[in-house]
Amino acid sequence: MPPERGPVVSATQKNATQNSFMKSLFFGQIQEELIFPYPEVPAETNETVRMVLDSVDRFAREHVKSAEWDEKGEMPREIVSLMAEMGMMGMAVPEEFGGLGLPQSGYARIMQEVAGIDGSLGVTLGAHQSIGYKALLLFGTDEQKKRFLPRLASGEMIACYCLTEPSSGSDAASIKTTATLSGDGTHYVLNGNKLWITNGGIASFMTVFAKVEVEEAGPNGDRTKKEKVTCFLLELPAQGVTAGPSEHKLGIRASWTNAIHFDNVRVPVENVVSGVGQGFKVAMGVLNHGRLGLAAGAIGGAKRALQASIEHSNERVQFQKKLHEFGMIKEKIGRLMMNIYVAESMTYMTTNMVDRKDLDYSIESAVAKVFCSEMLWEAVDENLQIWGGSGYMKEYPYERWLRDARINRIFEGTNEILRAFIALSGMQGPGQELAGIAAGMPKDLAEAIKFPLKGLGPLGELVARKIKRNTVGETISKAHPSLKKMAGVLEEHAVEFGTQVEVLLRRHGKKIHLRQFAQKRIADIAIDFYAMACVLSRVTSSIQKAGGDVTKCELEIAMAEAFFQRANRRIKGNFKTIDRNDDDHMKLIADKAAAAGRYPFDVITPS
Ligand SMILES: Cc1cc2nc3c(=O)[nH]c(=O)nc-3n(C[C@H](O)[C@H](O)[C@H](O)COP(=O)(O)OP(=O)(O)OC[C@H]3O[C@@H](n4cnc5c(N)ncnc54)[C@H](O)[C@@H]3O)c2cc1C
Repeated sequence: MPPERGPVVSATQKNATQNSFMKSLFFGQIQEELIFPYPEVPAETNETVRMVLDSVDRFAREHVKSAEWDEKGEMPREIVSLMAEMGMMGMAVPEEFGGLGLPQSGYARIMQEVAGIDGSLGVTLGAHQSIGYKALLLFGTDEQKKRFLPRLASGEMIACYCLTEPSSGSDAASIKTTATLSGDGTHYVLNGNKLWITNGGIASFMTVFAKVEVEEAGPNGDRTKKEKVTCFLLELPAQGVTAGPSEHKLGIRASWTNAIHFDNVRVPVENVVSGVGQGFKVAMGVLNHGRLGLAAGAIGGAKRALQASIEHSNERVQFQKKLHEFGMIKEKIGRLMMNIYVAESMTYMTTNMVDRKDLDYSIESAVAKVFCSEMLWEAVDENLQIWGGSGYMKEYPYERWLRDARINRIFEGTNEILRAFIALSGMQGPGQELAGIAAGMPKDLAEAIKFPLKGLGPLGELVARKIKRNTVGETISKAHPSLKKMAGVLEEHAVEFGTQVEVLLRRHGKKIHLRQFAQKRIADIAIDFYAMACVLSRVTSSIQKAGGDVTKCELEIAMAEAFFQRANRRIKGNFKTIDRNDDDHMKLIADKAAAAGRYPFDVITPS
């Protein structure tokens, strides 16, 4: 049963969020025109991508020695030069600057292939262009682009992205590296330490984030000093820059991961990106964009794992049967295949949003990163399981695939930070809307709106009625009629989601940013919802291409229906546990563990 009450939605907010599918969802709205029809890769892009994929395939067969590189903890430097010769260092760079000029969907498809061949290779290539020179590409001036992009696209220069520091990981705004303007105002002087910088050991171009002290006028006209994160482009060699040795790691062992030390390094003032103090926005903009390369890479890794699982379960005989005849193995293979289809649907939906250039895709790209990195982890883990003891042996590549996959849940925003981002960024719009409503209300109602309706009795009801205007019941008109039931599930969840977001905002007000148990549920619902919406759109397109003949799309429909069933159960569970949950128990247990500093039980009584 759909809930009786929909969320508060005003015309102004509808306008403010109309360029974001996911931000609208937090108001309980489905902007179906943003996701239907499912995007096609343009013919021209298709052709270029095919050509690159052919050479990637040859390159992989001739040059990639993953097991050897993994064992040694490095790949030959020439591998990067070979990728450069194939034109792979400037895939998304406009042709006028010497690149292939691929849109994000084409770039992602190639990253999918490369990461599917070797994790270290994918990370090296991605660190160069998904994040290494992305600030220049997205936010640089024409002059800066002319100066650097041709050399970056040709691979003459290798790029890295220097944000993380020893005391600043997820909390990127707390970086300590400083940049001080020289007396003559011609350059900045960088000092500080960066940590775990991919490509740090081979880079000749660094995007560096550092704090610059700026003077600002205070409210009373007084001058105050503030440190503001700023983005710099640094060309190497430069005096005072040293890179530490490459780190020994669990996975992606052949990629370069280095500490970087800046000791009075001079950077010309013309190398500031987007102006002093804009660095945090630049850093986040780069990651929003870059995350899709990671998501696509995860799809490549998962497809390879699925392939290995299918091959082994078709070959291996136990109890006089092939493994694929056993139900528990079927469930694994079915689930992996379905999840890859979902991951692909959401990633390429989102790359198209990037290519359109008129949409806000920040939440969608975070959703794709979280979903795809977790999907990959499940795929490599289940593949290892299907291979049994062989999966555990170094003789086979499957344990390496597992090790290589693990990093994706950590870098480019950990999945915890991204879940918080998805929830809080999405709730920002409805939060402002509620604050606006409260501002126009009598004081008692405005106060009441900030607190739980539950505790307010009749006043709560009054508030609920007062803000019940503009209730929206969403409908999806563009899904294929044969998928009506699935569309109905989304319609129902959208209204309920908008309502629950509003309830949480009224309950916690600004303190919602401290309520991570709630944030996680909201993020998980949002992830499942976006996944379902993208799948619905893709399957609709497939049915339409088949001239409406659903029998030709049997497999896709089965995957969609199975995913909807599973996601629907998860979403319902998450809605239910917003109010009735074991959060207090979990908090108590974790707080006791933190206070004890250890697991405090044992079956043996201490003497
Ligand atoms: C192989 C590798 C390559 C890397 N490459 C680069 C690179 O090229 N450039 C670069 O700048 N950085 C790079 N990094 C750094 C990477 O981005 C950071 O490791 C990541 O951002 C997490 O920071 P941290 O390791 O300090 O973990 P922390 O921030 O200390 O987090 C530790 C744990 O606590 C959780 N946590 C932290 N804060 C919160 C919170 N508020 N709420 C809930 N949970 C929280 C995290 O999710 C995580 O699980 C790389 C790291 C590795 C391992």
